[in-house]
Amino acid sequence: MKLIILDRDGVINQDSDAFIKSPDEWIPIKGSLEAIARLNQAGYRVVVATNQSGVARGLFDIKTLNAIHQKMHNAAQQAGADIDAVFFCPHSADDNCDCRKPKPGMFHEIAKRFNISLRGGVATVGDSLRDLQAGYVAGCAPYLVLTGKGEKTQAKGGLPPGTLVFPDLSAVVDFILKSPVGVSV
Ligand SMILES: [Mg+2]
Ligand SMILES: [Zn+2]
Repeated sequence: MKLIILDRDGVINQDSDAFIKSPDEWIPIKGSLEAIARLNQAGYRVVVATNQSGVARGLFDIKTLNAIHQKMHNAAQQAGADIDAVFFCPHSADDNCDCRKPKPGMFHEIAKRFNISLRGGVATVGDSLRDLQAGYVAGCAPYLVLTGKGEKTQAKGGLPPGTLVFPDLSAVVDFILKSPVGVSV
């Protein structure tokens, strides 16, 4: 089985420093859903792992988060794409949970759910350092996109070893699907 793990805000949809608090605020980045469709066509299952501390901060509730994800699923479907599952951490940094990236808890949950090892080439795509750190610790190959917070992340440096940098998700997917190196697990 081939699997890829994506961050949500700044990778699939436009990010906001004020959080994505409603379905209306969820706006896909141009080409991202089509890129997911290309992954699906190549046999990849696509999973999202996203920090959503806006829940812990009281900015929106789980019901609203579910509605946001329903909009994402619907938009994906219209683009011929399928997002297999969305794993989210609703906690704040103060909660000290195991799931909030840069901790790898969500990645371990994904490995368990899909009964695979993340080592050996499962790619993870993020726009923040903590996305890449979490994925790297869990054994994934980290890809930084320059959408969302990506440019700031690149400028700060300190990326995990082997991180590859691309303009956006579409470019990552072009690279992965052309890559002569096997990425199946
Ligand atoms: Mg992000
Ligand atoms: Zn958490």
